[in-house]
Amino acid sequence: MREVRIRDTLSGAVQALDPGHEVGIYACGPTVYSRIHIGNARPFVVFSLFARFLRSEGYATRLVVNVTDINDKIYAAAKAAGEGSAAFAEAMTAAYVEDTDRLGVGRPDAEPKATETVEGIVELIGQLIESGHAYESGGDVYFRVRSFPGYGKLSNRRPEDMDQGEESGSASRKEERLDFALWKSTKEGEDTSWESPWGAGRPAWHIECSVMAERELGASFAIHGGGSDLVFPHHENEIAQSESAGRPFARVWMHNGMVDAGGEKMSKSEGNIFQLGEALDRYGREAVVAYLISGHYRQPLAFGELQMEEAVARVERLRNFFRTQRGPDSGGASAEQQRGRSGESPPESGGEPERRLEAFREALADDFNTPRAMAEVFELVGEANRADELPGAVAAVDQMLDLVGLGTLGSPDEGGEEDEVAARLMEEREAARAARDFAKADEIRDELTSMGYEVRDLAEGPRLVPKS
Ligand SMILES: [Zn+2]
Repeated sequence: MREVRIRDTLSGAVQALDPGHEVGIYACGPTVYSRIHIGNARPFVVFSLFARFLRSEGYATRLVVNVTDINDKIYAAAKAAGEGSAAFAEAMTAAYVEDTDRLGVGRPDAEPKATETVEGIVELIGQLIESGHAYESGGDVYFRVRSFPGYGKLSNRRPEDMDQGEESGSASRKEERLDFALWKSTKEGEDTSWESPWGAGRPAWHIECSVMAERELGASFAIHGGGSDLVFPHHENEIAQSESAGRPFARVWMHNGMVDAGGEKMSKSEGNIFQLGEALDRYGREAVVAYLISGHYRQPLAFGELQMEEAVARVERLRNFFRTQRGPDSGGASAEQQRGRSGESPPESGGEPERRLEAFREALADDFNTPRAMAEVFELVGEANRADELPGAVAAVDQMLDLVGLGTLGSPDEGGEEDEVAARLMEEREAARAARDFAKADEIRDELTSMGYEVRDLAEGPRLVPKS
């Protein structure tokens, strides 16, 4: 078992995970008020693949990603759609599961929902009121920030720079500006509510994660993750709630950077949207995953046509590597491959493939450095392509790619997805030709060419021919 180290947002230090304990990971999931965008897919992919890597190293690992299905934005979006908010949230949760399923990186071990956690939330709020850390006011309950001396330790902000981002109507019910809501009384136009000792209402956002994390992983657990936009106020408030209630809470805080489209933070509220489903339709699963791991998880990740085309090209280079190494007659699959990944001979001991595989794993163990790990893959691919023969290279590349969710590249029989993307592009090209938009039709043909297809315009119609 390799030592795995993660940069902890709270201490700023690099922390080694304890191999003697289950690695419980709680990563904040989406608020389901619309279909998710590619920015939401980043934490989903990063934490899913990190958990996969830890398991491969022998760490007992449990990944929990919640679904926030009670929220102001859900009420607003449901109303705009002319639907009840409960049915709307349920439909959006199903859409989220469908979209993230398509990423092909598996599902978290648990996906608790706020609507199924209300009882536990009411209980924790009761404890916080009893111990003086929270107070009821006009049917709402607020956390008394001044009662928790550690407040601000995660985000390192000065109190004057802190803004809870809560609706202005709540200000008059708070003792102090910095206090934040734990429970909100039902407002006009809200069509769901739950009974509580403070009247009918619903949980505020932050408290659900304190409760779900403890319920799924215990009062103390290894890693709390999420996007860097959640450091304040969401995670700061989770710490305040849980520690005030006597729970040690997360030992390490792991935050992923934002996906940036043209320098602006990609968020639905800013109207700068690129839906995950659209990106998957357009570029295919493998290119989307390759894009999402192309930068170090803590750094911001630029998003645009250029970055996606680069990801498509990288994926194609890997696909070609398998085609070339396994020979054109195999359809990409060698006898060795047909026996399945487990049947492949391991890289020869002490050889270059084994050395690269080791460096790949070491990069992932070092604060989950996926770009450095992928550089090892491409170095080995280049070496194998230049050499007449490099025994074990195919198996090593296959193993490396499987660890980062790209194993289908080495197992074409598992995928068939590339053909789907190509077929869709062909339809788009036909539509462009029918509309006499020949520039666009040519552009799509070029894209198909770069994916390894030839478009033949035959008398009976166009045909897509894979180039071997
Ligand atoms: Zn959360």
